[in-house]
Amino acid sequence: MVERQTQAMSAGCRSGLSGPRNVLVIGASTGYGLATRIAAAWGFGANTLGVFFERPPEGKKTATAGYYNSAAFHRRARRDGLHAESVNGDAFSDDVKRETAALIRKDFGKLDLVVYSLAAPRRTNPRDGHTYQSALRPIGQPYTGKTVDLSTRIVADITVEPASQQEIDETVAVMGGEDWQWWIELLIEENLLAAGARTLAYTYVGPKVTWPIYRDGTIGVAKKHLAATARHLDGVLHSRLGGNAWVSVNKAVVTQASAAIPMIPLYVSLLFLVMRRKGLHEGCIEQMRRLAFEHLAAGKTPATDEDGMIRLDDLELRDDVQAEVMELWGRATTENLEQISDLAGFRLDFNNLFGFEVDGVDYEQPTETDLSL
Ligand code: NAD
Repeated sequence: MVERQTQAMSAGCRSGLSGPRNVLVIGASTGYGLATRIAAAWGFGANTLGVFFERPPEGKKTATAGYYNSAAFHRRARRDGLHAESVNGDAFSDDVKRETAALIRKDFGKLDLVVYSLAAPRRTNPRDGHTYQSALRPIGQPYTGKTVDLSTRIVADITVEPASQQEIDETVAVMGGEDWQWWIELLIEENLLAAGARTLAYTYVGPKVTWPIYRDGTIGVAKKHLAATARHLDGVLHSRLGGNAWVSVNKAVVTQASAAIPMIPLYVSLLFLVMRRKGLHEGCIEQMRRLAFEHLAAGKTPATDEDGMIRLDDLELRDDVQAEVMELWGRATTENLEQISDLAGFRLDFNNLFGFEVDGVDYEQPTETDLSL
């Protein structure tokens, strides 16, 4: 995956675009964060510092996929003469924030760009010691909708019960903007942000059919908090450093985080088919390439919507795309799903996340699993 994504970015390097020089990505080992890091490194030649929480190999036990992604990232960065450092630990903790700040001071100087791309099921807040759990639930009433079970491939209705107020509050504590704000406050306090520094976090909006579980559900409340945090940080960065904070609305892709959301695998399987047919398909790296070259390259000010958000989901939400997806959604059943969707593409992307079924890999050959970063 790292190989394919670095290749996808190389064309940009040749185009001579410049961009941020020193980039911190929080949540840098998989999904959008990894693609952001690759886009910054191979798109602009940036020095990158990645923070993530992955299990390293231990004895006979292999590491997590994100650990191997990061090991591959470091290997390729060294080969291509790109400076890269990583901190593997809990980004919500004070220790990891302090360790990262010390590394920035020692090896990077000041940062031009900080990207917050965490997706976590829980967070221990170091200031109150409490561990908060996020929940993916509707609010106010139960929601019944179509979903596909990825292991059995059965399409069926599921009912998700509404969240309690505590579940809403805990989801905001995990996936809202508080921790992002603490990172930026610490970096300002430690004088580690360059003049004009920018920060970004990611969100999803999606079509109406996903709103009860996403936009209008617990995660949606957390994302509203993230958007409010962006407005607050934008004011702070503007007045202190002439900088900015934005939220970027990205399209639906296959990641460990998105596959866990009810309805998303079915929706994404249909979306992929329609977008591929129309020549509009994008994965993480195509999205982050667009973000880098169209919005973050030197001399560019990101284009935003009326709420001040960068919209990378413009192609996903195009009327003609959504009309076709919704028509397919209405008639998707267990019997016809393989024919009317790209479920096979979804499953392949999902397996690829963990290094399985990757094109060109000979799985008969032994491979070293005890890798360092
Ligand atoms: P992902 O699961 O692929 O990546 C999550 C990252 O967070 C990993 O690098 C992981 O190591 C890191 N992480 C988790 N807990 C951590 C902790 N305690 N400390 C340090 N690192 C930790 O997720 P993703 O889908 O790429 O999501 C990233 C962001 O993009 C989220 O804000 C998500 O809402 C947003 N987004 C995702 C989609 C989508 O379809 N996947 C669409 C739009 C927006």
